[in-house]
Amino acid sequence: MITQDFAVARRLTELPPYLFVEIDRKKREAAARGVDIINLGIGDPDIPTPASIIRALAKAAREPANHRYPESEGLDRFRQAVADWYQRRFGVVLSAQREVLTLIGAKEGIGHLPLAVVNPGDVVLIPDPAYPVYRAGTIFAGGEPYVMPLRQENGFLPDLDAIPASIRDRTRLMFINYPNNPTGAVASVDFYRQVVDFAARHNIIVAQDNTYSEICFEGYRPPSFLEAPGARDVGIEFHSLSKTFNMTGWRIGFAVGRAEVIEALRQVKSNLDSGAFQAVQEAGIAALALAESISARNSRIYQRRRDVLVRGLRKIGLEVESPRATFYVWPRVPKGFDSASFVTTLIERAGIVCTPGNGFGVEGEGYARFALTADVTRLREAMARLASSLN
Ligand SMILES: *Cc1c(COP(=O)(O)O)cnc(C)c1O
Repeated sequence: MITQDFAVARRLTELPPYLFVEIDRKKREAAARGVDIINLGIGDPDIPTPASIIRALAKAAREPANHRYPESEGLDRFRQAVADWYQRRFGVVLSAQREVLTLIGAKEGIGHLPLAVVNPGDVVLIPDPAYPVYRAGTIFAGGEPYVMPLRQENGFLPDLDAIPASIRDRTRLMFINYPNNPTGAVASVDFYRQVVDFAARHNIIVAQDNTYSEICFEGYRPPSFLEAPGARDVGIEFHSLSKTFNMTGWRIGFAVGRAEVIEALRQVKSNLDSGAFQAVQEAGIAALALAESISARNSRIYQRRRDVLVRGLRKIGLEVESPRATFYVWPRVPKGFDSASFVTTLIERAGIVCTPGNGFGVEGEGYARFALTADVTRLREAMARLASSLN
């Protein structure tokens, strides 16, 4: 037998180290001891997909036409449903043909976008803390990530003036994400105007991730990036059906905006995947038709959970803002802890799993992320355990 040397490609070794090894081990140990774990670690809704969406899938799955390869850009009818929803929800009129692209989840589009628009050595601006795929997609395309710190004193918005000219001039693409994972921060159309102005002046493509636009509280409705004048000339916006409709396992999302960027991303996709299963797109059409009522119902559920969690964290003295959108709560860890020691202490003493802030980048150090993916009873139990374990 020949033994062959093996090494993974360098781009894999350039990914940030996986910080959760120790936490995963602690979680498994606690579970093996019989601890009843309350998992608030993963941003994956515990609420099932609405029945009408499942019925639409079942019907479409029986249709032989849907058993064949889809078009890589997506079904015309799905893209039209997206355009109709955008007009209803944001007052933004889109061409379904040129300005909308079906994705196999927003993650797929985010990961592939740098392959479509970034040359090796180009700078890509990424927020920190952030959803890890902005960095991973950049590295896979040979781009150079440059971090925009998101700080609490700036409302977790990037300081565009702090980006040095030498970086700005080499920048091709900029990722932003509001409502924000992990901080729960939101952005106004006025902020988006500033982003459009910055991007237009420096010839930068903007990719705004609006995955959490439909999980929002107390009447607040997050805007679309495309509401800012000129936005569709500089960038695109990602959406996901995962969080809005409790469809994380289904793999469906979309990108909208600047036609050349949409076309470039379509070209990458047509060479790497063959698009989303048409039956899932049919289910997506059914979902978008019910967006308003499903979003209202989900948001009510998350709002009650948010209130239980925020109240519980404040009661034990943690500093935390109550988010206006997303299903994440982002407290500072108590004095005497860092992100990792706080999270491991919670697992060991209380059986509660949350995510250390530094797992989202160095700027996340000193914070922890709790996902509102357990019901109110479980969250009350978690807060009671937390109170007794930290005393
Ligand atoms: C969950 C999430 C996604 C991924 O959504 P999919 O459509 O399931 O791929 C993208 N961006 C952010 C910020 C997320 O939290």
